[in-house]
Amino acid sequence: MRFKLENVKLKGAPLSFLREEKVPVKTLESFFYEYFLKNRNLESFKGGDSLFIDDMIGGIMEAQKIKPSAPLRFGWGLLTECNSKCIHCIAGDALKRKKRTNLNEIEYILQQINELSPITVILTGGEPLLLEYIYTILKKLKENNFVVHLLSNGYTLTERNSERIGDTKVDLVQISLDAADPIIFRKQRGVDCFEKVTEGIKYLVMNGVRVRLNFTATHVNLNQISFVYDLALKIGVSELNFNPVIPLGKGENLISKFDYKKYVYEIIKVYYKHLEIKPSLILTFSLPVEFFYLIYELIPQKDIENFKIEPLIYMYDENTSLSCNEIGDIRPGSSLEDKDFIIGNVYKESLRKIWRKNKVWFRRLHSTKCEFCKFLFFCRGGNPGVTYRIKKTIHAPYPYCPIKW
Ligand code: SF4
Repeated sequence: MRFKLENVKLKGAPLSFLREEKVPVKTLESFFYEYFLKNRNLESFKGGDSLFIDDMIGGIMEAQKIKPSAPLRFGWGLLTECNSKCIHCIAGDALKRKKRTNLNEIEYILQQINELSPITVILTGGEPLLLEYIYTILKKLKENNFVVHLLSNGYTLTERNSERIGDTKVDLVQISLDAADPIIFRKQRGVDCFEKVTEGIKYLVMNGVRVRLNFTATHVNLNQISFVYDLALKIGVSELNFNPVIPLGKGENLISKFDYKKYVYEIIKVYYKHLEIKPSLILTFSLPVEFFYLIYELIPQKDIENFKIEPLIYMYDENTSLSCNEIGDIRPGSSLEDKDFIIGNVYKESLRKIWRKNKVWFRRLHSTKCEFCKFLFFCRGGNPGVTYRIKKTIHAPYPYCPIKW
């Protein structure tokens, strides 16, 4: 079956945009080759060496079609409270629960994590810095030699608590920064705290903390991508990551306003600038499935041959990580948010037991448009959580994918 470009309809005329934006086709092609065909492992360096190791082990597991005896990553949502009102928040109804993990629960889960022995523990919320015990948690996890990442909006960062965070020896702190302009920042985050957050990031850097900035692109802040790149260089953070808005939670209402074409161009601009100045900053970004249709016909089939895979997709994240929320529900991976994916509760059975009974996850994309898609290797059918929310199955292509046959 042959892909027909004229069947694709997304925000007007396909490919004609290349001329509109005066970016030569060659630039887009070479960008694609560099990003996917040569630098396939760019993602692997996200978060430094620990995730590189995760990725290597995960790759072996994938080749063997098995899951590791312990998860590589354990995501721990400590509370649902948050001090921001982001327009793109994916948390949905969970925020209404207003539950914090208490000290007894924390001690119990820390002991469970020790028994489980993942490589990396990722602390999230809500906003984890609102939890008074966060420093104790960070310290205890580091004493037990886990690689520890903390994901925060940075709103409560001060000189004092940045020093406390630095003292814990946490491996990486990710701070959300979606604009280099205070007004746009407020529009996106719903709170007036741009100066406070950027000051806080500087304090973290001064205290020797490895900082990753995370930028979520929406219709509000698309023109901020290159400014945030410059700001990241100026402050001296270690990493910068760009994502497009995800159609989950409040993000679902933003998708129709989001210009994927512009997002990709802004990313390409930053990417080339990055190649030119070669800073120590690690730059990563997600290219949305919605992007693939734009370059579908530019990629010769022969160049993609090496990347062909079976439409039986090994679900990397679900087979190598667990997530725990503030009420102790455990899910495989980090994107299957629906209650149908709860595989246990940490207060009812041990994390080891839950992990052992977790099946090996596959996505079956036979007889769907993904089976013959040039991008299956990279895309793997798109975000399974979003697919499940709309299609009630993960064995279907990403519902927002515009490629048609
Ligand atoms: S969802 Fe399927 S058809 Fe669409 S880009 Fe991904 S692999 Fe290709």
